Amino acid sequence: MAFEGLASRLQNVFGKLRGKGKLSEEDVNEALREVRLALLEADVNFKVVKDFVAKVKTQAIGQEVMKSFTPGMVVIDIVNKELTALMGGTQSKLARSNRPPTIIMMVGLQGAGKTTTSGKLAKLLQKQNHRPLMVAADIYRPAAIKQLQVLGEQLNVPVFTMGDKVSPVEIAKAGVQHAKDNGSDYVIIDTAGRLHIDESLMDELKNIRADIEPDEILLVVDSMTGQDAVNVAESFHKQLELTGVVLTKLDGDTRGGAALSVKAVTGCPIKFAATGEKLDGLEPFFPDRMASRILG
Ligand code: GDP
Repeated sequence: MAFEGLASRLQNVFGKLRGKGKLSEEDVNEALREVRLALLEADVNFKVVKDFVAKVKTQAIGQEVMKSFTPGMVVIDIVNKELTALMGGTQSKLARSNRPPTIIMMVGLQGAGKTTTSGKLAKLLQKQNHRPLMVAADIYRPAAIKQLQVLGEQLNVPVFTMGDKVSPVEIAKAGVQHAKDNGSDYVIIDTAGRLHIDESLMDELKNIRADIEPDEILLVVDSMTGQDAVNVAESFHKQLELTGVVLTKLDGDTRGGAALSVKAVTGCPIKFAATGEKLDGLEPFFPDRMASRILG
């Protein structure tokens, strides 16, 4: 299960705090040292950990906490609150254009789960009575177009393709027009990914963005890759001004670093959490629920 290591370590630290009737400053310091180590081991960004612990400390070490009847619980509450804030505080919802269709551009490295997540998002929108259209703008990965078509068939969601001989910019533009002509209220554009960030990929994505002016640019990142996921998010955000992040593979044994750092490092909210290879594995991301899950 995701976050298992982090969750059990934090629960261990808090178990000790909870048991104490009175807390000394040293008790709090000791607990926060352990929290710090647990977060670093979970691959949370170093600076994020430092700021986080400092914030908790200023609130936890004070007369009011020490004098309360259950100081351990108060400290745990502070950690919970700060963990929630770290991940964005409140839920960040998917944009909805008041001049439909709402255009969503999916970007990310190859293998992150972009195509699968496009299908999952189409399914989620379909469940909310929307009429999504998926657009196959990844003309480089040989099976990508077919993969999207198969997903479309499974979901009964239309897929717009122009094969792999037309430029992705043209495909995206024609796809949006197709959505308008056919009454689709959401367009999900599956763009190409590479194994690494490179300039020509970014240029192409920038061209698509300039042309279709998407309401959302969602970066799909593999949460199993921890710090790397955060670095990828930072680079994409600098170049493309992302509007949100989707964390995939949260079903795996991810240590949690990406989920806990990506918002703080990039300023870009996590909008969805994806699990599993099945198409119903996409949920809006709720920072408070995730924090509670980690803290047990
Ligand atoms: P793309 O190259 O970014 O389009 O990635 P794909 O959508 O083709 O996904 C790459 C692999 O990851 C596939 O085998 C997917 O089934 C798998 N995958 C995608 N999302 C998830 C997820 O949330 N959890 C798990 N366990 N696997 C996923």
